Amino acid sequence: MEIKQTPVQRETLRTLPGDDARQILWRYADRYDLQMVVQATRGVARGPVARLVAAGGRNSHEWTEGKAELLQHFDQAGITNVFMEPNQGGYIEGPKNLALALVAFELAWVDAGAATGSLAGCLALSPIHECGTDEQRDRYMSLAAPPPPGEDRQPWRGAFCLTEPIPYVGVETGMLGGKLRIAEWKQGDEPLLQVDKRGRFITNMGFANFVTAAVESADPRIKGTCMVILEEGDPGIFDRGTPARKLVHQLSSTRDPIFSLKVPASRIIGGYQVKDGVIVPNMAHGQVIEAVFRHTRVTVGIMTSAKLLSAIEPVIRYQRGRFRGAEGLAPGSPRYELGLQQKEDALHRLIDVWAAGEAGAALGFATARVFDELDPLLRQKDQLMAEQGVGGGSAQFKALRRKQNDALEYLRLRHASEARRDKARYEALSSDPLVRFLVVDAVGNVLCPATKLWNTGVGANLMREAVSLMGGYGVTEDCPGFLGQKWMDAQLEATYEGPEVVQRRQLSVTMTNELFIEQFRHWIEEMREVASRRPGTGACALASAMQMWLWTLNHLQKATDANGAKLYHTSRHGVTFPLADALGWLLSSYCQIMDLLELERRGPENPMLAEGLAGLVNFLTDLCHVQAARASGEVGRVCATLVFGYNRHPAWDGPGCESCYSSADLESLEATMPGLASIAIDVSGEDGSHPAKAGPCASFAGYETFLRLRSRLDGCLTGAQLAKDRATRGLTEVMIPEALDYPV
Ligand SMILES: Cc1cc2nc3c(=O)[nH]c(=O)nc-3n(C[C@H](O)[C@H](O)[C@H](O)COP(=O)(O)OP(=O)(O)OC[C@H]3O[C@@H](n4cnc5c(N)ncnc54)[C@H](O)[C@@H]3O)c2cc1C
Repeated sequence: MEIKQTPVQRETLRTLPGDDARQILWRYADRYDLQMVVQATRGVARGPVARLVAAGGRNSHEWTEGKAELLQHFDQAGITNVFMEPNQGGYIEGPKNLALALVAFELAWVDAGAATGSLAGCLALSPIHECGTDEQRDRYMSLAAPPPPGEDRQPWRGAFCLTEPIPYVGVETGMLGGKLRIAEWKQGDEPLLQVDKRGRFITNMGFANFVTAAVESADPRIKGTCMVILEEGDPGIFDRGTPARKLVHQLSSTRDPIFSLKVPASRIIGGYQVKDGVIVPNMAHGQVIEAVFRHTRVTVGIMTSAKLLSAIEPVIRYQRGRFRGAEGLAPGSPRYELGLQQKEDALHRLIDVWAAGEAGAALGFATARVFDELDPLLRQKDQLMAEQGVGGGSAQFKALRRKQNDALEYLRLRHASEARRDKARYEALSSDPLVRFLVVDAVGNVLCPATKLWNTGVGANLMREAVSLMGGYGVTEDCPGFLGQKWMDAQLEATYEGPEVVQRRQLSVTMTNELFIEQFRHWIEEMREVASRRPGTGACALASAMQMWLWTLNHLQKATDANGAKLYHTSRHGVTFPLADALGWLLSSYCQIMDLLELERRGPENPMLAEGLAGLVNFLTDLCHVQAARASGEVGRVCATLVFGYNRHPAWDGPGCESCYSSADLESLEATMPGLASIAIDVSGEDGSHPAKAGPCASFAGYETFLRLRSRLDGCLTGAQLAKDRATRGLTEVMIPEALDYPV
């Protein structure tokens, strides 16, 4: 008789991941300054912000006293000046992307409107920070920094004004309605400019003291476009406009302002030159917003992931307590203790939410760290270019283009074994700042839109799942953790600072950069290596999916559709956009696995983690596996649809026949994948007449590699559902506090 053995149960999650684990996962265990920022921000989020939401503060479109008080809390807690340099009133040395990402995470854990209110101030300053002159930077950063103790002044607040009333700027940022003219230009004096700009949906507009606005020249004596700084006291109209009747982020102020102001030309962000009597701004508005958004979009992506992770505890509590108090239901009984957690689906869906939250946070924080690495390289690159007399714009682009091969060679050498590497060449290339810049920039250019796209879009969908797990409660204001509001808020995060189309469009260009692709190839190898060492992570499935994505990208770049039209083309969104989406799934899963490995490596160093570490690592490993399987499924679906979907189906255009496949095709198919040839015949049509005259038929010939990848990918899903089942034990056994720690 066969004896069924219960496998020894391995350790699982004991408590929800705390700060000690998060600091390692998101790489700030050695940054005491950032740990302090997290604590201070959390105090504001789970204190005054949570109380305001619970008291119904979101029920008004107006900028109320309660909302305004939050700004003071931000100032007092050191949130406002996280963005500033120490000499401008800040206190964090060096790049601040990770710091701002942590601030966004903590605030959005409770309310993303509060997070947006805080970050919109940074957004307003960003054009000045990234592209402003030294004088502009010093003036506005210092004015916006909260006063140190003993100094009595109100910090200035800012708004960033790009979007205009329809039919002007929205997704298309080049369609500027805002105009710039010369009001007065006396010989030898600084020109005085007339700015006319209307804004739509401008955050912080209820109280901003200055505005950074995008405008276009309407005067032959000014060239092109630029961004200008407007101040509340400038002569003319500074009308804050009407509040937007928002359904989301109600703790931030959003209005449609109107400006008609006279400002000195020194307000042109980045300065200007006068050439042949014409004012030529040093930075076009497009350059400024590109420099701004590549930083600020990361924090937006982080916000949605924070919401997903914040949903876990309230849902567990709801599920467990669902039937308590019912007549005859005794403590200790499974129904009393577990409640809805007795049901597999309720657990599986919560695992999906959690896994996506972890993956999004992993991607977002990884991106923030890449930008922390990139920022100094960017400054170094600009300085070098200036020293070499290379101007901005296309001159710089050309100069960098010439370095592309060096950067590629550097990457190949970096990934080659030391024995085979030309050491002298490698060292020369690795000390070249332009090479280093290009390598990191190529990754940043992909990770930023991927974070914004995947975290917010997929996150909004999963937030709906989280809401549904709370039943009717989920769509009420009383839902613990404010999950209903968070669901709706997630949609705004997917929209503002460029909706998903903008991110997909950007990805479709940046993800084909060979410097990115070379690094992506290395990540595949990395995942293969992890798969052999830690198969439970799902790295195997992920590596296969990454390989399939890369194969498909290469294929689509060369292939044509049934009508002979090019497939990979900027205007062919049906091809490029799904591939961009698929990449988001891959990158987030990859980052999640890399975080797990870091926790495994560094966790034992922290005695605070010792006790629960094994269980936490086991649980997070299973979450990685679940997510990798989900990502692989998405990628498989997208790639198969694109690879085959643009061929004409034989049975539809005319019945197919076996001759669609030459006997050589069939033989080679049968040799590589037994059984496949008969499938090929089956799908080629039923009544024997040939379809090829109508266009290429859906022959599998030529797709053997893809099919091999596809079947390998499916096989790699082995164990993914077992991982999900195992993870559910973590959900049922994890200890959670009696009550949520907000609102207080
Ligand atoms: C609460 C809130 C706060 C905001 N804060 C600010 C702020 O502080 N400063 C600021 O400047 N702006 C702000 N915005 C504006 C926001 O950035 C824009 O709403 C957003 O960029 C989209 O522009 P739009 O609404 O005009 O959409 P549209 O341009 O009309 O696009 C709508 C949809 O059409 C499709 N679409 C459009 N163009 C294309 C295309 N080329 N290809 C394919 N599909 C396309 C996409 O599906 C897109 O989502 C805010 C908006 C809101 C709601």
